[in-house]
Amino acid sequence: MTKNVLVTGGAGYIGSHCCKALQLAGYRPVTFDSLTTGWAQAVRYGPFERGDLRDRARLDEVFARWRPEAVMHFAALSQVGEAMRDPGRYWRDNVNASLTLIEAATAAGCLDFIFSSTCATYGDQDGVLLDEDSPQSPINAYGASKRAIEDMLRDFGNAHGLRSVIFRYFNVAGADPEAECGEFHDPETHLIPIILEVASGERPTLTVFGEDYPTPDGTCIRDFVHVSDLVDAHLLGLKWLEAGRGNRIFCLGSGQGFSVREVIERARRLTNRPIPVVVGPRRRGDAAKLVSGSARATAELGWTPTRSSLEAMITDAWRAYSSLDWPAANPD
Ligand code: UDP
Repeated sequence: MTKNVLVTGGAGYIGSHCCKALQLAGYRPVTFDSLTTGWAQAVRYGPFERGDLRDRARLDEVFARWRPEAVMHFAALSQVGEAMRDPGRYWRDNVNASLTLIEAATAAGCLDFIFSSTCATYGDQDGVLLDEDSPQSPINAYGASKRAIEDMLRDFGNAHGLRSVIFRYFNVAGADPEAECGEFHDPETHLIPIILEVASGERPTLTVFGEDYPTPDGTCIRDFVHVSDLVDAHLLGLKWLEAGRGNRIFCLGSGQGFSVREVIERARRLTNRPIPVVVGPRRRGDAAKLVSGSARATAELGWTPTRSSLEAMITDAWRAYSSLDWPAANPD
């Protein structure tokens, strides 16, 4: 019998890529999404349940209908700039919503839970390489909200036997190599998609947020990981939970850092387009350097990233950006 996996945020960037991989691996991904930031046309690999995660009755109905064996919880707000301006939204839409979901899953006896956390839970750590044991000291409400949910999962594990895998993503980039899914946000705030919008002529310039960081070229350094590699880790995490294990945190990064300037330069060469840049002030809430120094996912899950070179990520994202046609808004 096909096993169902409830995928919150299955209409979003990472969630839709994961639904494709789940379907290919023989699971039925059931997308639960409010379409606040996701896209109806991204739901192509299984059934769609539209709903708000804070609506417990709606969640109970969905758990009863599909009896999922596991939850993959991608749905979240994830913009640092917005989190600095409107932290309340992050506590409501990330933390409250996750609590309702975790309570509904526990009540339904669906105890295998994979959660998308982030390197933003670390804050600014003086440029050291980060691993699962690094201290967490978030400097924005996005990171703080994700850390709170990590704590919640630990407590529900202790009290109710919930088995969780927490993935702390570094900067996820790239797109499905077959260009069936891609990264689209409205408004777009992430570096590589904005670079591609400028390369295509859709946006006139890219603003570099700060050139006075304590890094070699003064711009922030990030560790980019290909969405396909990230999705592979989720399938391995699911198998790991199916084998009866759980309550483990894994960092998912490539282990290589690139500055904002380096990413722009690489994109200029790969797209063969000019990418005009202006330098602006720092964006509040940004850490100077976030790079993973962890090998735990490789050692314990057998995870081997294969597409996380900057070339593959920019090339795949550019192909998806150029070939997929997304409407400006979701139909109501
Ligand atoms: N960034 C930038 N200009 C932009 C968007 C992002 O300089 O228009 C920088 C941002 O300050 C950060 C890096 O690119 O240092 C990655 O930002 P993004 O929002 O893509 O991901 P985050 O690191 O916040 O998860």
